[in-house]
Amino acid sequence: MSTEKYIDLRSDTVTRPSKAMREAMANAEVGDDVFGEDPTVLKLQEKVAALLGKEKALYVSSGVMSNQLAIKSHTEPGDEIICEQDAHIFNYETAAPSLISSVQVKTIPGVKGVLRAEQLVTALRPKVYYMPRSRMICLENTHNRAGGTIYPLEEIKKISAFARANGLLMHLDGARLWNAWVATGIHPKEYAQYFDSVSVCFSKGLGAPIGSAITGTVEFIERARKWRKVYGGGMRQAGIIAAGALYALEHNVERLKEDHEKASYFAKKISTSPKVRVDLDTVQTNIVLVNVEGTGKHPDEIIAILKSKGLLVSFGTYTSIRAVMHLDVSVEESHRAADIFVSTVN
Ligand SMILES: *Cc1c(COP(=O)(O)O)cnc(C)c1O
Repeated sequence: MSTEKYIDLRSDTVTRPSKAMREAMANAEVGDDVFGEDPTVLKLQEKVAALLGKEKALYVSSGVMSNQLAIKSHTEPGDEIICEQDAHIFNYETAAPSLISSVQVKTIPGVKGVLRAEQLVTALRPKVYYMPRSRMICLENTHNRAGGTIYPLEEIKKISAFARANGLLMHLDGARLWNAWVATGIHPKEYAQYFDSVSVCFSKGLGAPIGSAITGTVEFIERARKWRKVYGGGMRQAGIIAAGALYALEHNVERLKEDHEKASYFAKKISTSPKVRVDLDTVQTNIVLVNVEGTGKHPDEIIAILKSKGLLVSFGTYTSIRAVMHLDVSVEESHRAADIFVSTVN
């Protein structure tokens, strides 16, 4: 399907590399990254590690790979990891924790994607041989399925203290940590200090075509690098794509606030429609979830009508539709998208 003639709000992953980004990619210095000799990959990894205040970073092909490398490198088969019930790791990664790491995922319902430290007390397994070993807590910031919500730093601090006190590791799925940074002004390093590993994506709102990174200690990254090779993720002249990620980090972080503004406008406009509901409290970054129950139609039916009018959105959760703002939708298009949406559901 050619998407040229549509306003595409399905995801911030649909962004395409700009001309300047493509030039940076075309001109990238490259080497064999399996030998650790690609200068552009090395530069990107150093930059990301420094940004997150971690010893090392590893460039990987996708966000799923970065999360799964963290799980594999931090756990033993038979362990249990704890996630919020709408976590990406639990819902959108094809059961990879069980397939790849042979771990069990214990899920806990959060509020707007956020767990409270008190909820973890009862999630922790007693140390008896016939129970799984609680090994790691995984949080997500911003939280995708909850609608791009930001994890409060104070809660992270408490959860991390609980984890440390009980010998649990902490992993952050920070696919959209950049959005949390821009929305709150809290530096990625401040968030990252509470985690043993943090994954970040360059191919969402930052607009790079491919790639994510996983960060942590030297020793952790060595283990992750080994598993990356096992999974077929050792890439050779990967500097070509890493250059896109570097360009994205240098040019496309600050501008995420425009995406947040577009989302806020879109959400407010749509919330004026009596047939749909938008919880404006959850519209904290670039994602808008619209509950369409009141229309009496299934989200898929509305998605099809919107498509016929030139607007692409995606299925959210059960009764909702998801619209995501990104750098390839102009302010004007985002306003037009809101008008199309409102006229369709009213
Ligand atoms: C997109 C995303 C990922 C990574 O998914 P990929 O399909 O590998 O790009 C991981 N976590 C969250 C929260 C995401 O939104």
